Amino acid sequence: MVVRLTDTWTEILRRRASNNITGGYDAPVRDMLGEMVAAAALMQANIKFDGSLVLQIFGDGPVKLAVVEVQPDLALRATATVVGQVDVAATLSQMVNVTNAGRCAITLDPNSKFPGQQPYQGVVPLFDDRNHKIEKISEVLEHYMLQSEQLDTALVLAANEYVAAGLLIQRLPVQGTSNLSGSMVSKENEDRIGLDEHYNRIAILAGSLKREELLNLDVETILRRLFWEEQITRFEPLQGDTAPRFACSCSRERVGRMIVSLGREEAQSILSERPDIEVSCEYCGVQYHFDAVDAAQLFTASVQQSDGGAATH
Ligand SMILES: [Zn+2]
Repeated sequence: MVVRLTDTWTEILRRRASNNITGGYDAPVRDMLGEMVAAAALMQANIKFDGSLVLQIFGDGPVKLAVVEVQPDLALRATATVVGQVDVAATLSQMVNVTNAGRCAITLDPNSKFPGQQPYQGVVPLFDDRNHKIEKISEVLEHYMLQSEQLDTALVLAANEYVAAGLLIQRLPVQGTSNLSGSMVSKENEDRIGLDEHYNRIAILAGSLKREELLNLDVETILRRLFWEEQITRFEPLQGDTAPRFACSCSRERVGRMIVSLGREEAQSILSERPDIEVSCEYCGVQYHFDAVDAAQLFTASVQQSDGGAATH
């Protein structure tokens, strides 16, 4: 599976750059986030999960958080929280794994949950089997996929200021369907790890794909270069509404609920210092303003709700 995001990716970057509080991303952060966006789109398309797939890196360095959220229809959004100076040549570990506490989490949050059901979350450290710091997002995720799906996976990822792209090669399950949550893992699949010669050949070819090729070549050329000796069957590419695209799920109503959760006192204290409560969405940059009248309405509505009375929206 190949993904190549151009408009979607530049839209995410454009919105970030126009945020006058944060400014745009430094190149190493941008490329890391772009690789995560490509990977998350591939993972969601691969498992076809009916819910959101959230790929997060919790960093212990200048990048505190990088997050990508992909919906089942491949609508996606992404952001990174940068708290310190990022060197122009910063490696992955210099951004998110300085004191060995960085980690990566993949969360699958089903759209329809039974009461009390928690989203499934898998967490992997940013170290390989030999306890070396991992310097590639693709390697972190290959580890994760092998652990959770028991399926050999090869990922090649690359991003720059124009493109976020990725190539995913995965051995098909011996039986059952692949399942990130691990509930369908079969012993047979586990036994085949590393042993399938066809998979190994394809994965080695895929691994020879260079970053520059992935960024600059169209899919047709990439497939021809890598797999010219193989018989290739191409699926119809996803385009338009079925393709990955930027979309933010923030809303005034959600921000209102967040303000209510801060509590009336906190809201009043903010309003005593400024004319309104201003909240800007870190994903899309939209600013929401709540003045004293708006805030009073929020809290009145929330009191009515908790009293069991008619809620106003
Ligand atoms: Zn938003």
